[in-house]
Amino acid sequence: MEENIKGRISVLSSHIMASEKAAALTAVPSDSPTIFDKIINKEIPCNVVYEDDKVLAFKDISPQAPTHILIIPKVKDGLTGLSKAEERHCDILGRLLYTAKLIAKQEGLEDGFRIVINDGPNGCQSVYHLHIHLLGGRQMNWPPG
Ligand code: 5GP
Repeated sequence: MEENIKGRISVLSSHIMASEKAAALTAVPSDSPTIFDKIINKEIPCNVVYEDDKVLAFKDISPQAPTHILIIPKVKDGLTGLSKAEERHCDILGRLLYTAKLIAKQEGLEDGFRIVINDGPNGCQSVYHLHIHLLGGRQMNWPPG
């Protein structure tokens, strides 16, 4: 019975991983508005954990860890992904990382956490509005998949 449940969990998790990857591989890199614009404009709901004039952070809809938060710039300014960064983006990039540290503290991740920025199809990026994943609340593994 226990083996049965373990097997089921393994099948379910591989399905979830496959759909994340499928979403990334079907996403078309572009500077068009994304679902995150709707979140910024409060057109669709999300669970906000932090907000200031430049940055918004909210819980990922498909959490990969007990704590999984997305941290995004409110103004994309061409930053569809990190690979599009230019010198003018240094301030916002630094601010996003510093905000990740503030949120990690706010969320009680004293034992550590992981920051992820997926970029492009090979990096498994599915939403083309730069975002930092803040993951925590469990032991991470290395190397990542
Ligand atoms: P990426 O794969 O581009 O690095 O990450 C995009 C993330 O956005 C995924 O982890 C996905 O679960 C999350 N996501 C996609 N749509 C929504 C949504 O409508 N609401 C929230 N909260 N997260 C979303």
